[in-house]
Amino acid sequence: MSRAFVAFGSNLEAPEEQVKAAISTLAGLPGLALLKASSLYRTAPVGYLDQPDFINAVAEFDSALSADELLDTLHATEEKFGRVRTFRNAPRVLDLDLLWFEGVTQDSERLTLPHPRMHERAFVMVPLAQIAPELAIGAHGDAATLAASLADQGIEKLG
Ligand code: ADP
Ligand code: MG
Repeated sequence: MSRAFVAFGSNLEAPEEQVKAAISTLAGLPGLALLKASSLYRTAPVGYLDQPDFINAVAEFDSALSADELLDTLHATEEKFGRVRTFRNAPRVLDLDLLWFEGVTQDSERLTLPHPRMHERAFVMVPLAQIAPELAIGAHGDAATLAASLADQGIEKLG
């Protein structure tokens, strides 16, 4: 079994429910066991601004799947939740990113680990730091320090 961290994001069709349902769906799949889930957070959109706020969360799993198999599972789950790929940074019912996978560092278009932009995004690092403050993100440092340095991006923790 390997530890893995997954990021959840949604800004369409009752996004809080989408994120909660996505966490439960992954937790119920063979080969994945949910270890910890962060609170839900509300964040302003990045890149393309004329769209609703996002709901974000991060969860930690024990995975019997390989990193590649887990990415396939994340893509299949996005499809099951009705995600339509249109343009970069577009609104979406569900975005699932594989942030970190125990023992795997790689750089390819299909799967780069750790996720190449996670360390600069408060909507990833703040929920991640809630559940794994000491996690080292490659050469970028630990999750808690990175999250603190991004706090000015504006992110609201929900109940
Ligand atoms: P974004 O999440 O940046 O809005 P997408 O979800 O459409 O964009 O993902 C774009 C591509 O990124 C996917 O085809 C996927 O194979 C690739 N990718 C590379 N590394 C990762 C990763 N660590 N997690 C998720 N997708 C990744
Ligand atoms: Mg994605």
